[in-house]
Amino acid sequence: MTVDTATAQLSGAQHIELVETFAAHNYSPLPVVVAKADGVWVEDADGKRYLDMLAAYSAVNFGHGNAELVEVAKQQLDRVTLTSRAFHNDQLGPLSRELAELCGMEAILPMNTGAEGVETAIKTARKWGYTKKGVAPGKAKIICCTDNFHGRTTTVISFSTDPQCRDGFGPFTPGFEIVEYGNIDALRNAIDENTVGFLVEPIQGEAGIIVPPEGYFKQVRDLCTEKNVLFIADEIQSGLGRTGKTFCIEHDGVVPDVLILGKALGGGIMPISAVVSSREILSVFTPGDHGSTFGGNPLSCAVARKVVEMLKTGDYQQKAAELGDYLIGRLRAIKTDKIKEIRGRGLWVGVEFKTEAGPAKKYCNALMDAGMLCKDTHAQTMRLAPPLVITKEDIDWALERIEKVLT
Ligand SMILES: *Cc1c(COP(=O)(O)O)cnc(C)c1O
Repeated sequence: MTVDTATAQLSGAQHIELVETFAAHNYSPLPVVVAKADGVWVEDADGKRYLDMLAAYSAVNFGHGNAELVEVAKQQLDRVTLTSRAFHNDQLGPLSRELAELCGMEAILPMNTGAEGVETAIKTARKWGYTKKGVAPGKAKIICCTDNFHGRTTTVISFSTDPQCRDGFGPFTPGFEIVEYGNIDALRNAIDENTVGFLVEPIQGEAGIIVPPEGYFKQVRDLCTEKNVLFIADEIQSGLGRTGKTFCIEHDGVVPDVLILGKALGGGIMPISAVVSSREILSVFTPGDHGSTFGGNPLSCAVARKVVEMLKTGDYQQKAAELGDYLIGRLRAIKTDKIKEIRGRGLWVGVEFKTEAGPAKKYCNALMDAGMLCKDTHAQTMRLAPPLVITKEDIDWALERIEKVLT
């Protein structure tokens, strides 16, 4: 076995230098170089340990190196990893049934990244509009929300309201209309005979953990049913346990027509996303319509099957609910004049700082020095989303640091 000892011996600073020199600068990460991780803890290239309070934007919901998931991945690595969809494999069928059942739906369409899942949902809604709803060719309209985040492909950024996501990347894909998030009248006014879908996040993560008004999604459900519009919930970040339920939309007691999943579905090991819906809606696809070389590959399917199995007991969801309430309660009790608002659901919390307190990044950097990793979003908000395997003791450890930095 060859070991690249030269690389293994680089310091954190040297690794950052390599990225600065040889990689595109499309991110601005905290200056920490993770070299190892276990559960909720990561270790940097220089041996310093940190508590991970971000969990790769919920992709690591079950913790780093989760023993059950790693075991399944290792076994599958030795069996078969990729067949393409030119052939069947023995993991996709079982995953399709198990994931559809977890969602209370009938069928899935597997892809890899979240953005591909969103693209797939858009194609689903458009083709459903033309073939089932009778929308005139080329006229299908999908409604999206202000401050949405659904990924980074050219079509997906076409309906972003964040100028930085779009600047320099046009021309854009037509066929989208933006309405204010949480505003049911705006949605009602925007729906016309060409509207095929309403694409929405149950809680807006990237926008700063924005929870819509109570009752909003009940009204969305009724309106979409009345107008024959597909209600498409992007649960890529909010789904799979994060908010204290398997799906965030369950808090509202409604069922969307289409669910988009990603991130945690791959157990932090493999990218896998999926569009989950009814047999009828997904039957708009016929062979050759759509696909992906890695979509439905047996390695990610095997890991995702384990993720589904782990979610079945409800333990992770219950833990997220209980510890989330505890975390939010303790955060709200901190005596500081720096905080404007604390929002969240389950283990998904946004701490919004007052403008005069300075940008959230400042606090994230101070917390990093204190041994805790989290990330700012939209300048003033610090996002906390630890792996769901976190303990109360670890949360107390984090709170000690947060309190110190804030007071
Ligand atoms: C992360 C995310 C996406 C995009 O997923 P990628 O895997 O990064 O392409 C889409 N929607 C939501 C809500 C997300 O959080």
